[in-house]
Amino acid sequence: MIIDCHGHYTTAPKQLEEWRNKQIAGIKDPSVMPKPAELKISDDDIRETIVNNQLRLMKERGNDLTLFSPRASFMAHHIGDFQVSSTWAAICNELCFRVSQLFPEHFVPVAMLPQSPGVDPKTCIPELVKCVEQYGCVGINLNPDPSGGHWKEPPLTDRHWYPIYEKMVEYDIPAMIHVSTSCNPAFHTTGAHYLNADTTAFMQLIQGDLFKDFPTLRFLIPHGGGAVPYHWGRFRGLAQEMKRPLLDTHVMNNVFFDTCVYHQPGIDLLNTVIPVKNVLFASEMIGAVRGIDPTTGHYYDDTKKYIDASKILSPEDKHQIFEANTRRVFPRLDARLKQQGR
Ligand SMILES: [Zn+2]
Repeated sequence: MIIDCHGHYTTAPKQLEEWRNKQIAGIKDPSVMPKPAELKISDDDIRETIVNNQLRLMKERGNDLTLFSPRASFMAHHIGDFQVSSTWAAICNELCFRVSQLFPEHFVPVAMLPQSPGVDPKTCIPELVKCVEQYGCVGINLNPDPSGGHWKEPPLTDRHWYPIYEKMVEYDIPAMIHVSTSCNPAFHTTGAHYLNADTTAFMQLIQGDLFKDFPTLRFLIPHGGGAVPYHWGRFRGLAQEMKRPLLDTHVMNNVFFDTCVYHQPGIDLLNTVIPVKNVLFASEMIGAVRGIDPTTGHYYDDTKKYIDASKILSPEDKHQIFEANTRRVFPRLDARLKQQGR
């Protein structure tokens, strides 16, 4: 089976964006604040946006299943207060749940959290519980910078985040470290802020001792781990100078990278440097980079092609990356697939 562990509902019906724009207008003028019930999206609306987009490409590319979360750039946790984020997260998570109900063989939901800058992350717990228990979410997306590019929260190793980690451990779910839109003009959202956050999160984990407190906690760092694989020697050397343990034991039992790297040399580097057990297949389709690479004639984000073409990975390695690692890192996904006889 080919499992893509990183997909977002980037093609949601336009009513969603219209409702969000009204909600944002309602922050300044409460008289125009829309109610959640004013958002009308039918099952047919959802089917149309999936069948013609993600599912079409999955079938063309040979991907069987996608872990599906709300559009990351639309999380925009920096907008409004906790109440605004809470209402918005509930709406977006319910939509991904409905996608998973309509296409149970192809989509499994992952939740966004109602984070808000400066607000205690424990406020996210009720939404997290609902998403796991009622919607069957198998993981969460955790934003280390809900300020949107200004980095005001403490590092991920700080006790600030522990309420979320305690719940993750209880449910045995991983978190993908995923920022949202940058409202800092110095950082392009997908070209800089996302990759910066991936790299930043990994360095925070090296500096701290988080996995001593939570030995089973698991993080998925997307976009191939940002700059981490390319600069592996720097991270190993820094850890050594900082008298940290070897990265193999210090972080690499708990941290995983996806394959959202959009060219063959990048994928080959990832798989040369990072152990196979730490790599999970993903494309983040339909996402940040939607075009066709003129040098190959293929979509940049058709990452299955790069794994298929890899001369570094054995067939068994490829099976680990396409399926087995993801089932291990997402035990609730594994259980759900077993229930389906897969
Ligand atoms: Zn993403």
